[in-house]
Amino acid sequence: MIRKLLRRVFSRHTESSSPAPEAAYIPADQHGIRSAMILPAARKVCAVLQEAGFKAYVVGGAVRDLIAGIKPKDYDVATNATPDEVRNLFRRSRIIGRRFRIVHVMSGPETIEVSTFRALHDEDTITDEHGRVLHDNVWGTIEEDATRRDFTVNALYYDPTTETVIDYHNGVADLQKKTLRMIGDPATRYREDPVRMLRAVRLAAKLGLSIDPAAKDPIPEMAVLLENVPAARLFDEMLKLLSSGYAVLCIKQLREENLHKGLLPLLDVILGQPQGEKFIWLALANTDARVRAGKPISPGFLFATLLWNEVLSNWNARKENGEYGQPALFAAMDEVLASQAEKLAITRRISADITEIWALQPRFDKRAGKAPYRLLEQARYRAGYDFLRLRAESGEIDMELPEWWDAFADAKPEEREAMLQPEKKDGPRKRRPRKRKPAGSPDHGGNGTPAASQ
Ligand code: ATP
Ligand code: MG
Repeated sequence: MIRKLLRRVFSRHTESSSPAPEAAYIPADQHGIRSAMILPAARKVCAVLQEAGFKAYVVGGAVRDLIAGIKPKDYDVATNATPDEVRNLFRRSRIIGRRFRIVHVMSGPETIEVSTFRALHDEDTITDEHGRVLHDNVWGTIEEDATRRDFTVNALYYDPTTETVIDYHNGVADLQKKTLRMIGDPATRYREDPVRMLRAVRLAAKLGLSIDPAAKDPIPEMAVLLENVPAARLFDEMLKLLSSGYAVLCIKQLREENLHKGLLPLLDVILGQPQGEKFIWLALANTDARVRAGKPISPGFLFATLLWNEVLSNWNARKENGEYGQPALFAAMDEVLASQAEKLAITRRISADITEIWALQPRFDKRAGKAPYRLLEQARYRAGYDFLRLRAESGEIDMELPEWWDAFADAKPEEREAMLQPEKKDGPRKRRPRKRKPAGSPDHGGNGTPAASQ
């Protein structure tokens, strides 16, 4: 630790040959952000820190989005106060993170992420054999902090007190020129953190920027490095991308950059099938429309759509092999989710949601007896129905089925009776002996309905 500190002090004095970037102080009339536009909670966090004698700025995505005229998704604050110092200033706050210790400051319903300026990497930075940074948590100056950020448009610091943007890397100009430019050497920065390739695609799509050729060119060759990224991190990034409101554009761009391969391992296969592809584009376009209209979206629903065609073909193959309906479906679902798990750590809760939506699908075929009433009362009926409708819109099944359910759900009790199909007297159940559930799917309920998740 002391050795590291000495080295940093030493290197700062001797290696100043790599020129420190010049700061531009940009006034409000040039960037357009007035302090009233900043979320009050973020403004307050900056004010409290500044009153205590620290530097504090709104930084990153929020500044970028406000200049671009987009409502920021969340607010980050950067400061020269250490996490403990921040923690001591705010009663409702907690330190989180291991790789980077940051502080979450709660203010009313809002959470502001406060991070301490970080130092640049040095020879002590721990990386994997591909150059991916595994551990770094050394505090630095604002200049160093700016240089560590990924793109110039993300390295802008806004001071709500003076309404000034501090810009070390021409980010404001790049944003105005609609260019996404990497800070530093793009290949090195991708090696340090391959997720930056995905961020480039997502941010370019979201902000309508074109990726600077220097940042774009290395991507096809370096895309394989995504294979070394931990599955949980990839999942987070994929979720951000899919719920950005620009999923269609992002996936098209990912395919163009050849980045879609290592993500959902089967995405390229799925995108290669005309019917599967139609389903996915419809689902993504739907999600985009919901996000842009400010409506909530369900990650479970999203991933259920992305993987459905795999389940379908696996299920069909099993049926052709003589495996019986529902258990065959559950076996197919398990296999598809397991095949994704290595690459993409889908959280337990989300996989439970996915499974539930899939498991409801065959139940929509049963339009006789008590079954339709029971299905309507299912907590996840709506999600299951929306999924069914997408299947019909993509041509996988007849539109008649979702339309029947629409009518059935709206009908009065006496009308419903008349809509039911006659119960089959010798259904397959009577002719065939009931088989036991296959081993490996013990969680699923005996009637093919997994327990409803909360
Ligand atoms: P959005 O919030 O719209 O998804 P964002 O750019 O704010 O986009 P965050 O993940 O919230 O993304 O990150 C906040 C800031 O942290 C970024 O603007 C950038 O300055 C920095 N940052 C995030 N990820 C990286 C990374 N992988 N490498 C370098 N800097 C990063
Ligand atoms: Mg952000």
